[in-house]
Amino acid sequence: MQMNPPLPLPQKYLERLRLILPAGRLESCIESMGREPATTFRINPLKATATQAVEALVAEGFQLTPLSWKADAFSVPHHQRRALTESAPCREGWIYIQNPASMVPPLVLDPHPGEWVLDLAAAPGSKTLQLAAMMAGQGRLSAVEVGRDRFFRLKANLEAHGASWVQLYLKDGTGVGRTCPAWFDRVLLDAPCSGEGRINALYPETYAYWSEAKIRELSHKQKRLLSSAARALKPGGVLVYSTCSLAPEENELVVAQALEWGLEVEEIALPFAAQPGLTQWQGKTLPPQLARCLRILPDGLMEGFFVCRLRKPG
Ligand code: SAM
Repeated sequence: MQMNPPLPLPQKYLERLRLILPAGRLESCIESMGREPATTFRINPLKATATQAVEALVAEGFQLTPLSWKADAFSVPHHQRRALTESAPCREGWIYIQNPASMVPPLVLDPHPGEWVLDLAAAPGSKTLQLAAMMAGQGRLSAVEVGRDRFFRLKANLEAHGASWVQLYLKDGTGVGRTCPAWFDRVLLDAPCSGEGRINALYPETYAYWSEAKIRELSHKQKRLLSSAARALKPGGVLVYSTCSLAPEENELVVAQALEWGLEVEEIALPFAAQPGLTQWQGKTLPPQLARCLRILPDGLMEGFFVCRLRKPG
């Protein structure tokens, strides 16, 4: 039998994956981390219709495969990635390159017309832009980013893609709950994370800074941001917490804190198979409600993602 050579990923990371991922998915997930990732994009309805964008891309020779569960999202073969970034529809802001898993948190947040929505950790703005498109100007959308360079990238991205009406704040999100208590109908916290779900053996920069110490440090930061997000939310409001990490310390253990503050995890259904949140980690039993969180496992098309929808008591 031919064995694939082991991937040059941190040994400790691989050991942890054996504890985190379901046994039946472990090998295929790890194998996907050694392949070129898919290139996917979403049509930006703030700049173009689906017909306009698809026709323009097909005319430039792109081989588009529609995503099975999202009508306005497509993938192209990896060898067309560079050309896609240089294509006219991309330069004109008609499309936005984004992994399908990253399109899920705004769908789960599900903003309604007239609401005031906060994106608490927003740059470079993939999800802010998606929310802006979903809201189509019917309501208020505020976005916060603490990193100066990243803030200006967010601003430029929103302007280039027809969403300059979004209110932007160069601020530390941990203070927003204190300064804007119970202001928002919905809050998205797509938290800064270790990026484990995007680790790829072909790109050493995706795992160069990975360590368990980093995960612990991020978990602390995520809890502070989640506390601020929960305070900024109106009673009865919806908070979506997401990361592109697979680490329970950055996911279920962070959400477990929100349960202690009285928030409830709501059931969510995705249009594709996802794994329930973990209710056991390192010998500790976690609250059963955490099984309602969802884990999207990396598979070559999707990056690994964690998403959960919380409701603040009314
Ligand atoms: N939601 C973004 C998107 O889809 O394009 C990605 C967000 S990224 C995972 C997390 C962001 O949070 C980073 O841009 C990081 O600079 C920012 N961040 C980190 N600490 C923060 C804080 N205390 N307040 C606000 N933003 C913060």
